[in-house]
Amino acid sequence: MSKKTLWETYTPEQKTAMTEFCEGYKDHLSACKTERECVTDMVKQAKSYGYEDLDEVIASKKTLKPGDKVYAVNRGKMLVLVQVGEKPIEEGINILGAHIDSPRLDLKPNPLYEDSGLAMLKTHYYGGIKKFQWVTLPLALHGVIVKKDGTTQEVVLGEDPSDPVLGISDILPHLGKDQAVKKLGEAFGGEDLNVCIGSIPDEDEGENPVKRHILKLLAEKYGMEEEDFLSSELEIVPAGEARDYGLDRSMIMGYGHDDRVCGYTSFMAMMDCPKTDRTVVTVLTDKEEIGSVGATGMHSRFFENVIAEVMECCGTYSEMKLRRALAASKMLSSDVSAAFDPNFPSVSEKNNTPFFGYGPAFFKYTGSRGKSGSNDASAEYIAQLRKLFDEEGIAFQMGELGKVDQGGGGTIAYIPAQMSMDVIDMGIPLHSMHAPFEIASKADIYEAYRAYKVFLTRV
Ligand code: MN
Ligand code: MN
Repeated sequence: MSKKTLWETYTPEQKTAMTEFCEGYKDHLSACKTERECVTDMVKQAKSYGYEDLDEVIASKKTLKPGDKVYAVNRGKMLVLVQVGEKPIEEGINILGAHIDSPRLDLKPNPLYEDSGLAMLKTHYYGGIKKFQWVTLPLALHGVIVKKDGTTQEVVLGEDPSDPVLGISDILPHLGKDQAVKKLGEAFGGEDLNVCIGSIPDEDEGENPVKRHILKLLAEKYGMEEEDFLSSELEIVPAGEARDYGLDRSMIMGYGHDDRVCGYTSFMAMMDCPKTDRTVVTVLTDKEEIGSVGATGMHSRFFENVIAEVMECCGTYSEMKLRRALAASKMLSSDVSAAFDPNFPSVSEKNNTPFFGYGPAFFKYTGSRGKSGSNDASAEYIAQLRKLFDEEGIAFQMGELGKVDQGGGGTIAYIPAQMSMDVIDMGIPLHSMHAPFEIASKADIYEAYRAYKVFLTRV
């Protein structure tokens, strides 16, 4: 493992390329705060790289040839990109995977109410958050409202400097005596995370005038009525852009590094991938933060179905060949990990913890309480990847998520592994994972992109 940081080993040209790459990433992270926004942005970019909609390829009965590029979108929230290789797909594909959902607060189905002259929104948190971190911050509202006529209204409120922001209040320290003696995990309940959205009463007489006034504003701005909340997906996320972090600008602070930092780097490696022997695929999935469930999570058959459809379009589909293709595949399942943090040294074991600036980190296994729930990558597969990255001069680390029995975590890796392919976890180390604003090292971000390109073209 490298003894020097990438800051010491990168050439001036590499440093320039790193800075440029990270500017693109910051733009993506600032603009895309929901899984839907990530998919929309990536589809737009993919089209400019020559990717075609798989549904259109199927409808036109076009035959896919080596070098052809297609994308498939699952309900606006999951994206699979495929570049057809020279060899038959049956011989296996090279897969990059990451998730594009992030921890946040979702609005409840009936969110809007009035209490003591304030209009408020009820939320239900999504993913593993530390609830106390989400109060007294500028918050934004992102998502979609789907009306009964099928039209979709997109919502982004709180990002433009001229926009208002929303927020959740906290008790002033002067009156915080009872709160201060509560355990950290109990001081803020899920039902306390209510977002304030207004305080002006409507002119018309009647009950709940502040709520009625907000409903009028929602009707004006989004053409919605209260019941349209029932068929909406509205997410409360931290307001504001991703920014350079540190006087030396070596890091990036932003909302949603987990796991858009792996999603974006995988995506860009896919976009910049030359023609390959093996078919290459990038899957960007939803719902990882709540167990990879549902039609848009990694547990759904969507990924497998896309590979089957691509094989059909290549004229090579059979159930047997699909199974062979999946079993002969190699995958980097990328998700963020915890970088060593000098503020909290006790949760890590230094010999097996990634540090900032040494490149992306491999995880042979994840899980908790004796590796439970883990995908345990085989030593043979790791040896192959070590050799490849050493040959290509790619820096990497190898670690674990924290000390044994300190906690733990899971990723999507074990799900594709069920198809009998080789999968290993790899990811970019973070500080403050799952906080409203997380930190990543620019060097690790750029090195991950380089690693993914090598993986796609050579593994
Ligand atoms: Mn993650
Ligand atoms: Mn996570």
